[in-house]
Amino acid sequence: MSEILLQIDGKEVKASEGMTIYEAAKSAGIFIPTLCHHEKLTPYGACRVCTVELETAGRTRLVAACVYPVERNMVVRTRSVKVGKTRKVILEELLAHAPDSEDLRRLAREYGADADRFEKEPAFCILCGLCVRYCAEIKQKYAVGFSDRGPRREIIFIPEVASKACWDCKECFELCPTSYAQAAYVLTEALAFPDRASASAPEE
Ligand code: SF4
Repeated sequence: MSEILLQIDGKEVKASEGMTIYEAAKSAGIFIPTLCHHEKLTPYGACRVCTVELETAGRTRLVAACVYPVERNMVVRTRSVKVGKTRKVILEELLAHAPDSEDLRRLAREYGADADRFEKEPAFCILCGLCVRYCAEIKQKYAVGFSDRGPRREIIFIPEVASKACWDCKECFELCPTSYAQAAYVLTEALAFPDRASASAPEE
């Protein structure tokens, strides 16, 4: 695999062909925030919090570091004013959907994001896809997936699969940046297989 030299935040970084900007930065000790990335899962580029500024051939643009592949001689800025402003707006939009997420609130404080800038549309899920990808790629169970499109898009546990696959797993809960995966599972359990729900409820 050929070596690629690029510059990130003024530092010369060596990367391998096929690496993403996020991976190259991480290998050089440069931290880029993200809410949807997991090193064992296929990059998804959903939350856009990893947005960085990229300069190639004298032109700059914003790209998602977790899905954008490295190229020779590219210049990347992970902390420019433009990057900071962009991440702030992205966080404000995400906060409208998941205002109680601790991970989001922590990043919001760091970037000065206003939790009340956009009208609240709390779905409590930011559609990061971590639960869906983890279940499919690591567990190979496909118990949770996306339904619908556009503004109606949401994650759902498939009752027939979840009733068999989830009760002794639940590993997606701790990956979820908003706690919605757990809430969605508990609701599915209560509605679709209530016997299991009452059996797993803590005793009074
Ligand atoms: S439930 Fe959580 S992990 Fe799953 S897509 Fe929504 S925010 Fe991401």
